[in-house]
Amino acid sequence: MRKYVIFGVQGSGKGTQATMLARDFDLVHISVGDIFRWHVQNHTKLGAYVRRTVAAGELVNDDHVESVVQDRLHQHDWNYGFVIDGFPRNRRQAEFFLESYDIDGVIHLDLPDGEVRRRVLARRLCSRCGLDYNLMAHRPKKEGRCDVCGGELVAREDDTEEALAERLRIYHEKTDPVLDLFRRKEYVVTVDARPDKQTIQTEIRKRLDLPLS
Ligand code: AMP
Repeated sequence: MRKYVIFGVQGSGKGTQATMLARDFDLVHISVGDIFRWHVQNHTKLGAYVRRTVAAGELVNDDHVESVVQDRLHQHDWNYGFVIDGFPRNRRQAEFFLESYDIDGVIHLDLPDGEVRRRVLARRLCSRCGLDYNLMAHRPKKEGRCDVCGGELVAREDDTEEALAERLRIYHEKTDPVLDLFRRKEYVVTVDARPDKQTIQTEIRKRLDLPLS
């Protein structure tokens, strides 16, 4: 059983790296941001509140976060373990998590703020199937259309200059201290998030003593 947390500022490739790790080691990839986006898209009661919060670049309140994480982990469909992305984002969430779960490692994807801005503002999402694009690194064949389903590509509502500035500020204020807390327990491997995705994945596996393929 392997239980990992993946950390990184928005645009650092957390989702991509978590997906690659999950696929090869039969882990369940839990993305708290994706769960919240699901609530927004499906117009749940929680979704209405989350939508306003996320669009402003703010964090969803801890009670809601803890309840969605708990519900997800209580499904116990993670026989071989999980990789959780986007959580914990502050000290209270970290304490809540560590009370209930032992973790095997924390992957920290390190990316300078200037590069975050460049990447995030170029990020697009298919409005139909949810596939990720990036106007610099992963361009669609036909402008504005998804290669797979032909859906319209849109920016995430929280990928604006203002919301990004707020998210970066909150990340450094609230999430950096969580990393320090995990560092004290010697869980953290910090990996440079600037190379291509395969190089990053290989480095993560080396650092976690996982088989390379
Ligand atoms: P992400 O896809 O991880 O960037 O998450 C998108 C948005 O969901 C964030 O900007 C937050 O508003 C919210 N969110 C995701 N995870 C958390 C969390 N652990 N705590 C609070 N808010 C969160």
